Amino acid sequence: MKKTLIIDCGHGTATIGKQSPDGTLREFDNNRKIVQVLSKTLTVKGYKHFVLFRQWLNEAMLTVPDFSLSSRQQVANSFVHTNNAKDYLLLSIHSNANSMGQWQAARGVGVWLHNTRTDLHFEASNFAQQLAIATQLPLHGQGVHYRNLAMNSPHNPNTNRGILADSMILEIGFHDNRQDVEMMKAANHAQNVANGIVKSLEILYN
Ligand SMILES: [Zn+2]
Repeated sequence: MKKTLIIDCGHGTATIGKQSPDGTLREFDNNRKIVQVLSKTLTVKGYKHFVLFRQWLNEAMLTVPDFSLSSRQQVANSFVHTNNAKDYLLLSIHSNANSMGQWQAARGVGVWLHNTRTDLHFEASNFAQQLAIATQLPLHGQGVHYRNLAMNSPHNPNTNRGILADSMILEIGFHDNRQDVEMMKAANHAQNVANGIVKSLEILYN
């Protein structure tokens, strides 16, 4: 696999509001489980990767801060050799929401890019499709979405802008959609997500 993956886990244990309306699924817990299983899966495959903060892999670490986007960018950039930044790919693991704490109808898998990264459309589309197949979640819209954010914006897709490597935000299901939450709670969800990501890596970068 030609890319070295840098894995970013959305949010922290105390992040407010990033949970299902009934409080039974916290986005951070779900993201972290995916990051743990993905890291193990990549290790078994022998694929080089970094997880931004080791606290995410340590299950005994019950309290983890919501690291700022600037610290995420700084640590991610510390892994990247500037003369071959194209050999790295940062994936930020998230789930989506479309309400302020109410159940709502939007659902599925979307990949978010900063507007400056239209060059990544093909890869992003492949990640969205393989994740949808592996998780059996639908695609959200066409699968690929863009945001135009200032350099200092606190919104997650801004991660796409500040780091040297290619990067994309994977929004894997909506934690305010009942059907998605039921699927995200399934015991094999994290492994399905990891399998979808690995499938794309092998299609795109072998
Ligand atoms: Zn998130």
